[in-house]
Amino acid sequence: SEHETQFIKIIRIKLTWLLAYNGITEEGREGKNILKLIGNGRRTEQVIAKIAEGNKEDVDLAVKAAREAFDHGKWPRMSGFERMRILMKFADIVEENIEELAALDAIDAGKLFGRGKALDIPAAASVLRYYAGAADKIHGETLKMSRELQGYTLREPIGVVGHIIPWNFPSSMFFMKVSPALAAGCTVVLKPAEQTPLTALFYAHLSKLAGIPDGVLNVITGFGPTAGAAISSHMDIDKFCFTGSTEVGRIVMHAAATSNLKVVSLELGGKSPVIVMDDADVEKAIDLATFAILYNKVSKRQYESILSYIEQGKREGATLLTGANPAAKSDTTSSPQFSPTTVEEAIERANNTRYGLAAGIVTNDLNLANRLSRSIRAGIIWINCYHTFDRDCPYGGYKISGFGRDLGMQALDKYLQVKSVATPLYNTPW
Ligand code: ADP
Repeated sequence: SEHETQFIKIIRIKLTWLLAYNGITEEGREGKNILKLIGNGRRTEQVIAKIAEGNKEDVDLAVKAAREAFDHGKWPRMSGFERMRILMKFADIVEENIEELAALDAIDAGKLFGRGKALDIPAAASVLRYYAGAADKIHGETLKMSRELQGYTLREPIGVVGHIIPWNFPSSMFFMKVSPALAAGCTVVLKPAEQTPLTALFYAHLSKLAGIPDGVLNVITGFGPTAGAAISSHMDIDKFCFTGSTEVGRIVMHAAATSNLKVVSLELGGKSPVIVMDDADVEKAIDLATFAILYNKVSKRQYESILSYIEQGKREGATLLTGANPAAKSDTTSSPQFSPTTVEEAIERANNTRYGLAAGIVTNDLNLANRLSRSIRAGIIWINCYHTFDRDCPYGGYKISGFGRDLGMQALDKYLQVKSVATPLYNTPW
């Protein structure tokens, strides 16, 4: 396809420079080997790059730089308008490099190049612009005090922010986390997932071209229990945002609590229901549910873990309808897991999970859709659609899916704290 040709061309020209710039040495870089390595959207099992394994000492250095930039640097002290201009420039530079970035996500995360170019990278830049536009509109309130006092609030950047992100949307995640933090005037130490570090490194480089001062945006590559744990337990990080599994969420929250009680936000796993009402077009509902489940693809580790669930299911007496065997097609059959139910039962079943990330509803009955939306305990409800993210639409979990919201103006609040200032109106004793 046209995209594929374009993709290969760009890889040939740019990847060499890019990996060299970041101190990354990759194998089989030259000539037609690269074509075999890329596998646009496919897992090829080939080594594409070797990345530095950051440890606690590296995290310490990054936090030291971020601390210095926050405590004494100009980023939190410049006007919001000036920050806005730099972040807008950052977004422009991201878009100027859209093809390299989409290519990197394709080789690194198995993303489709065309989709990255049309969707992921432009959306990432637009999230950055959204928060850039908010940077000069952050203000407190004048308070109506109960006595003769002048009272007002200041909204100040919370400080040094630690971010740990997963592999599933490397570019969207990066900007979803970093943009509001930077707009608020915070400085950042971010660890991308060990599976997908390439675009994050490139974004750090681009941020410098945009004029973001040294020490403001730091990217550390490495593994969770080492580099990740050094972030969650760091004594000099003020705010910590984690996106990943509920299991690791518990570990990092514990680390935050037992170190310096840094403020924590967690965006964790989900087990999201889709409710299909009987007036729905079944074909469309199936398309929606399939898209909801299979939109994104998984690392080898996830692939193997899914296969193990299937094996477990079979051991417990389930029969396999299709797939799951990479070598041969299975033709065993099973009966569907779905069954008719009343609206009340549907609500109860949808809520019968400890997770609460998202839910889907498929129906043409507007009143019912609104009623169901209020009854389901999940952070986002998609009616007749799924995975419809928007920069203005807060996203995050109920229950063990976590707390705190990404996107929307709520996300900006995570990186600000409120200070109250009070003073008497008269020189009389207060
Ligand atoms: P997923 O199952 O989505 O891959 P994980 O929770 O395993 O989610 O990983 C998400 C992120 O958390 C990754 O960047 C990973 O390196 C990091 N991580 C894993 N274990 C820890 C840990 N013990 N402490 C801090 N970060 C961790």
